[in-house]
Amino acid sequence: MAAMARPLPPGFPLRSHLLPRIHEEQGRAGWLTPEFATELARDLRLPVAEVWEAATSFADFRFEPPAAEATVCAGLSCRLAGDVSTEIQAGSACLFRCYDAPASGPERPFPAAAVRRAGPLLAPGTATPEGLATAQRLGREAALGVVLESGLRGRGGAYFPAGVKWKAALDEGRPIALVVNAEEGEPGVFKDRALLSVAPRRVAEGIAIAAFVLQPALIVVFANGHATPGVDSLTAALDAVAPSLTVATFRGGGGYVLGEESALLNAIEGRRPVPRTRPPLPVQSGLFGMPTVVNNVETFANLPVLFGDIQGYRKRGTAETPGTRVMSVSGRVERPGVYETEVGTPLRALLESAGPTCAGEIAVLAGGPSGGFLSAANLDVPLQPGLLHPTGAMLGAGGLVVLDAPNDIRAAALAMARFNADESCGKCTPCREGTPRLHDLLAAGDLAALDGLAEVVQFGSLCGLGQMAPGPVRSAVHFWPGVFA
Ligand code: SF4
Repeated sequence: MAAMARPLPPGFPLRSHLLPRIHEEQGRAGWLTPEFATELARDLRLPVAEVWEAATSFADFRFEPPAAEATVCAGLSCRLAGDVSTEIQAGSACLFRCYDAPASGPERPFPAAAVRRAGPLLAPGTATPEGLATAQRLGREAALGVVLESGLRGRGGAYFPAGVKWKAALDEGRPIALVVNAEEGEPGVFKDRALLSVAPRRVAEGIAIAAFVLQPALIVVFANGHATPGVDSLTAALDAVAPSLTVATFRGGGGYVLGEESALLNAIEGRRPVPRTRPPLPVQSGLFGMPTVVNNVETFANLPVLFGDIQGYRKRGTAETPGTRVMSVSGRVERPGVYETEVGTPLRALLESAGPTCAGEIAVLAGGPSGGFLSAANLDVPLQPGLLHPTGAMLGAGGLVVLDAPNDIRAAALAMARFNADESCGKCTPCREGTPRLHDLLAAGDLAALDGLAEVVQFGSLCGLGQMAPGPVRSAVHFWPGVFA
């Protein structure tokens, strides 16, 4: 936590001090008082209501003295390690330590033993940033060409080509902001924490390569509030690999919606973390109105691997998505943890490595609250971007939770529906009103009404959270309708 408490470098507008100041106060006093909100509003020259509006939008901030009891994870994988039949009634806080289920207590570094299979991204690196040296030797334009030609796609879950994003920001012809997205907020996904802890120099070198090509005016690392040890490792690695870079680190306050990059930019700016209406895209007008490149931790980790072997990079993975993917595997398996695997590897092969321990038939939740379930008959699907099954299962951020079917399905589907309802930011009506109704209809077994509402939520919602919220519900009902009757 100490390194993340570094003051913001010069150049950040006053308002963007909101999140760091709130963290500082909660760290000091344990909670946020109305007096503090008034003082902060005065310091940042904002209405008090705007301070409250932003602060109360983050799940991790407290507005009354904290209870003394230990923090216990309520995420799906941890509940599978206990009594999964107890439905969560409110809140769905995940500690993102699904490899250590049932998790409780304070943050701790990602354990090396939970790296079950390492490839080029997770392998221990050398101290010499050879990929950065290659990029510098090539020059900015040729290095951009390498990224474009490589076919490298973002690893946050949307798989947009990284080079195309970079070029679009450069084409704006204005000072650029570069944002490192370490806000890993999906239950069942912990691969960025693994990369930050196990291979921080590789991530730091990737940031330095991107900074060399983009020459950003601002660089921000936005980290999940429960990823402090990993981000401290990254900060130390940046000091070693790229000491001339000025990097601001922000710590989030919880919220799945921060996976939507414009919501994350609002959080950095000290605003309520809700998605912005598009256009403009963040690459056109993002952080403080600057063309903004937001890339995920794993995307940055790919860059030194690419520049370390430009010809060889495409030899791994598929033609459309070269390279490897760090998968997070948890739930009913003997060996939970991260598995680095080539894109296109059959799901079944990965599951065999993890050692399912299901008493009944195996089932998998792929893509978490935005994905869907797969039955035992659907496990030969290759792990590649896009839908793994038309009802919702998807590769997404690479989270796989192994379940026992049909015993776990009802509780797991209800947990995903509850999570989406809790995490809806409330900006648009189909998601705000529809996601709690999806949960309630599923609980009541009203499958006919559920089907129609799922369509409205999918097509009427503004961002991916609402658009993909029906996936777990729809897929569970598709494969195991009897469980909900
Ligand atoms: S879809 Fe949901 S999370 Fe996204 S903007 Fe609408 S209410 Fe917010």
